[in-house]
Amino acid sequence: MGLKIYISKEKCDLCGVCISICPFNAIEISSEVEINASCKMCRICSKKCPKGAITFIDEVRDDVNRDDWKGVLVFVEHMGGEIHPVTHELIGKGKELADKILQPLYCIFIGSDIIEKANELLNYGVDKVFVYNNEELKYFRVDVYSNAFEDCINNIKPSIVLVGATSIGRSLAPRLAARFRTGLTADCTALDVKENTDLIQIRPAFGGNIMAQISTPYTRPQFATVRYKVMDKAICVDKPNGVVESYQLEESKLKSAIKIKKVVHKEKIPGISEAEVIVVAGRGVKTQKDLKMLNELAKLLGGQLATTRPLVEAGWAHYTKQIGLSGRTVKPKLIITCGVSGAVQFTACMNSSEVIFAINKDKNAPIFKVAHYGIVGDLYEVIPMLIEKIKKEVNVNAI
Ligand SMILES: Cc1cc2nc3c(=O)[nH]c(=O)nc-3n(C[C@H](O)[C@H](O)[C@H](O)COP(=O)(O)OP(=O)(O)OC[C@H]3O[C@@H](n4cnc5c(N)ncnc54)[C@H](O)[C@@H]3O)c2cc1C
Repeated sequence: MGLKIYISKEKCDLCGVCISICPFNAIEISSEVEINASCKMCRICSKKCPKGAITFIDEVRDDVNRDDWKGVLVFVEHMGGEIHPVTHELIGKGKELADKILQPLYCIFIGSDIIEKANELLNYGVDKVFVYNNEELKYFRVDVYSNAFEDCINNIKPSIVLVGATSIGRSLAPRLAARFRTGLTADCTALDVKENTDLIQIRPAFGGNIMAQISTPYTRPQFATVRYKVMDKAICVDKPNGVVESYQLEESKLKSAIKIKKVVHKEKIPGISEAEVIVVAGRGVKTQKDLKMLNELAKLLGGQLATTRPLVEAGWAHYTKQIGLSGRTVKPKLIITCGVSGAVQFTACMNSSEVIFAINKDKNAPIFKVAHYGIVGDLYEVIPMLIEKIKKEVNVNAI
């Protein structure tokens, strides 16, 4: 379904009421009334037009022929051949979806000198890895990568395309979705597929207050991006029997407007997404210096300290330490939340952690709904006790 605005030239007398009431400045008048790109389809103009000249029409689009589009295609993200781990998570999810609709699982790998790495991906049950191997494609440049990706989609016509919600993926996926005039759901937290191959894309919406189920029933392919650490990693299959197929891009499509002058490798500092143990400070922590106590607990457990958003907003922690919809997604082996209420914008990005242990003095705090273990108590009493106990254990084991 698509909404279209229709302005009747016979009825419109250019009175300008619609311009004055449009909250988005989306209406202009030259020789006739024109709607610009700011229109949010709110329909206020249609309701308030004194002449009834503006109408909204629901346009029913023809169903796409689903049989023309087959398979799940995963974008292999890498930097100079080093594959980003989100790729393995997408392959894991892609395989599950592909098996459910009895269709193949594909990967697209764009780069230079990548054949060996492409072969390794077959171990995860990928049916075909389509490789665009060219020196010009060594590093990510959005224009030529989009050309290669588009070429691959035109050749294989996949039903579903999965891309990591990373800086690269967030730059690439919308461009591709626009080229194919199809839908893209960003930052999905869960994915499923119907028998008719419609992808069910689940993600928080309206500030995280609802979990929306989004589908793309009228167009193909169906694009979804998924953040790192949301899905489970792919597991190796017993007898891999996929193949690697090489494709070449036309010379003209390899020409980029972007020149890479120098590639500087950033020092790799393990972030909270990689940590196996995380201690989270929430607003129950009263002063910034009290974070030291939580940090001590994190260090004793070989983990990292993270926070909720209010602490980042207060300037107590760097934004890279924030868990949540507007921060990072984490999936550690153990997460201990201290004085965290458990707002959905926070829990949506940590609730797949293996063990969730919550400390909160309010027994009705929503965090206890996602926690496996909990202590109802004051963190200023509980944490020093925990620290003392762990130190004792460490000392006993050291003797
Ligand atoms: C669009 C949008 C995006 C957002 N993104 C994020 C995000 O990425 N990350 C995020 O964290 N939030 C995010 N938020 C904010 C979110 O809604 C919550 O406001 C926030 O997570 C609350 O943080 P908190 O649990 O630390 O604080 P509070 O909700 O204030 O909870 C503090 C908790 O500490 C407990 N407490 C107090 N004192 C003690 C004590 N001495 N001992 C034990 N417990 C104690 C209280 O009982 C309470 O449950 C977002 C909101 C919106 C609208």
